[in-house]
Amino acid sequence: MRILVSNDDGYTAPGLEALVQALQGLGELTVVAPETNHSGASNSLTLNRPLTVRTAANGFVCVNGTPSDCVHVALTGLMDARPDLVVSGINNGANMGDDTLYSGTVAAAAEGYLFGIPSIAFSLAEKGWAHLEAAARAARQVVERQIAQPLAAPVLLNVNIPSRPFDALQGLQVTRLGKRHPSEPVVRTTTPYGDTVYWIGPVGLAADAAPGTDFHAVAQGSVSVTPLRLDLTQHSQLDELRQWAEPLCASQ
Ligand code: MN
Repeated sequence: MRILVSNDDGYTAPGLEALVQALQGLGELTVVAPETNHSGASNSLTLNRPLTVRTAANGFVCVNGTPSDCVHVALTGLMDARPDLVVSGINNGANMGDDTLYSGTVAAAAEGYLFGIPSIAFSLAEKGWAHLEAAARAARQVVERQIAQPLAAPVLLNVNIPSRPFDALQGLQVTRLGKRHPSEPVVRTTTPYGDTVYWIGPVGLAADAAPGTDFHAVAQGSVSVTPLRLDLTQHSQLDELRQWAEPLCASQ
C-alpha cells in the first residue's frame, strides 16, 4: 500500500504532521506538500514558471507551488510507482458546502482523483488545531476502512471532523454538501504607503445546514463524509438547452 500525503496549509503545518503520524504502519507514505500556505488555491496549476522541489529534514518533500501542483508533480515526476491512495490534510478549518470549490485541501485530493486514484480530503472543522490528535485518529480510521474495504472507483471523499476529544465524536455520518450564504463583504484598508487594498472577506454562514448535510453532521459532533464528483455538467438542463440552442449556428 503506497499512500501519497499532501495538504494546502504547507509542509510545516501541524495538520500534515499529525496525519502522517496517524497513518504510520498503514503503508509506504510519501509526503509532497506546498512550501507555503495555499489555502483557497482551488485546483490551480502553476504554468507560468517552473517548480522547485526540495526535501525537508523530516523527509517531507515541498514544492513551491499549489496543492494541485504537488500531487501532479508527485504522480508524474517524483514517485517511482503510482500510489494506491492520495490523502490530503488535515486542514486548519472546515471545508464544507461551497468551500469545496475553493479548497486547496480538497483540490489536492481531487488531483489524485483525476488521475484515477482513490483520494480523501480531511479537514478539522475549527481553526486552531485544538483536538488535532483526535481528528488524526478519526482520519486513520477512515483510511483503514478504505484500505480494508475499498469503495468502488472513482473515489473522492471529503471528510470534516468536529473539533472535540475523540471520545466525544458522535460517530460518522454520510452527508451531502450543504450551502453557504455569500461571503462577507471585502474588507478595505490602507497600507502604510497610502494605497487602498482589499482583503477577501470571511466565508458566510451556512444557508443550507439541513439534516443530511455536512454542516448539520459536524454541528451534531459527527464526522462528516461526503462523496464528491467533479462532473460539473448540469444534467437536468441538457434537454432544455438543446431546444434553446437549436436555431443557433445552423447552416440554414
Ligand atoms: Mn488550508
